[in-house]
Amino acid sequence: MKWWSNKYTYPLVALAIVTSVGLQAAWLTQLFQAQRIQVKRDLEEVVRNAARKNDYLSIMHGRERSENFRNFFLSPEWLLFKQSFMSMRGKGIGSARFSSDLDKDSAYIDISLRVANQKPSSAKGKKRISHVLDKGQTWASAMAADRHDLLRMDSLVKVECMRNGLNVKTSYVLYNYDTGKPTKASTWKAAQQADYRSELYAYNMNFFFHSYQLVVPSINGVVFYRMRYYLVSSCLMLLLTAAAFIFLFRVLRSQRLYTQARLAFTGNMTHELKTPVAVIEAALDAITRYELSRDPAKLENYVDISKVQLKRLNLMIDKALNLDQLDNGAIKLRPELFDVQQGLESVVTSMRLREGSSAATINYIPADTPCFVDGDPVHLTNVFYNLIDNALKYGGSPAVITVSCSCDAEQVHISIKDNGPGIARIYRERIFERFFRVPDHPDIHNVKGSGLGLHYVKQIIEKHQGKVQVRSELGKGSNFIIDIPAYHEI
Ligand code: ADP
Repeated sequence: MKWWSNKYTYPLVALAIVTSVGLQAAWLTQLFQAQRIQVKRDLEEVVRNAARKNDYLSIMHGRERSENFRNFFLSPEWLLFKQSFMSMRGKGIGSARFSSDLDKDSAYIDISLRVANQKPSSAKGKKRISHVLDKGQTWASAMAADRHDLLRMDSLVKVECMRNGLNVKTSYVLYNYDTGKPTKASTWKAAQQADYRSELYAYNMNFFFHSYQLVVPSINGVVFYRMRYYLVSSCLMLLLTAAAFIFLFRVLRSQRLYTQARLAFTGNMTHELKTPVAVIEAALDAITRYELSRDPAKLENYVDISKVQLKRLNLMIDKALNLDQLDNGAIKLRPELFDVQQGLESVVTSMRLREGSSAATINYIPADTPCFVDGDPVHLTNVFYNLIDNALKYGGSPAVITVSCSCDAEQVHISIKDNGPGIARIYRERIFERFFRVPDHPDIHNVKGSGLGLHYVKQIIEKHQGKVQVRSELGKGSNFIIDIPAYHEI
């Protein structure tokens, strides 16, 4: 895509995340509101049902077993009828009378309404209802029976709530049936802050002293419980989206770093290859220009310099050519009984003699017993060479390097420690990646390299079923540790 530039990727991904979070939030808020409405409807239904049952029980005191009777008083139509009668009382009706009575085989319900031609002049006469007491009943016993009905209404509401999965804290406010005023101002005040208040319901048919209002201080618990699957799936979706984006960012970042590293590698390799060629060119030029064939000592010196440079060139070419083989796993090891101490010693000796390393100190601490592994001498020597070369390159000035070896029945341990600037924690894994070079190494930006050495070390050690790790602290040097399985006779 020519028109698409990588710089748009991050803003686009950020926009996608913000949009998806915003949409989820909007959707959940809408759902939350809808659920709140539904919970309120369900609570209303619960109180309505409880009032209906309580009506029925209050007339009969629970004694009547007639199917017909039960069907009538528990029908929604009857409830509607009664509720309509009650609400009509407020609408300009002069007086209303609602009473019930029982005889042996029937129940009588007397409903009478008196509608005045004009609005009643006194508020007093407006809402009065005639209370009809049963035969032999006193006001005190009627009040006690009303209280009993009220408690039953409240427990019926609680049972219905539980049955409908509405696990909420409830309370109620009692209103004077005639005046419509709350009987306790304090409970009424508290109810004003509540999430839900039901309609007013008469809870018995005999007295009409009070009406009942259910109060639920908070319905959010039930709402969240009902939304639990949506909430979990939303969170999961967000987590998955975030994980996918993080993964994408990582891939993009490592691709960018890889491209940068490749470019740096090409630059470094060009420099590394050009230097020996230039040195050899200059040596050959000097030999012909100054006719050094007549001065054998100088000639030998120039030839030696050229040989060293050619060796270096050869090593660099090998490194570059081995790269693909290494990554495809195509490199073939030729394992044999390899004396690790001998290998280390020879590398240390040649490094001590190396041009430019005279200021450095390389200490070698051998193991008390010989340490053998089943390994490829060429590759393992290269590994030692790379690690000690790095310690020289990135060590302190002057570099102090300690190479040590120890072994037990199972493992051979090799340690190469330097006094350099160390490696920051975030790079400790990454230095083993192909082409990777620590970008902000203090004091050593001028050290040239390909970023291939440690990648090669890791591959070779892992091919020997071993592992390589680095322990380092910034400012206190680095310690590369190799563990390889010890040689066992089969
Ligand atoms: P290079 O050719 O750059 O040396 P390596 O793969 O050998 O490639 O090393 C990768 C990077 O790890 C180096 O560029 C350097 O930043 C860091 N590094 C390696 N060895 C050391 C060390 N002993 N001390 C500090 N940093 C090191």
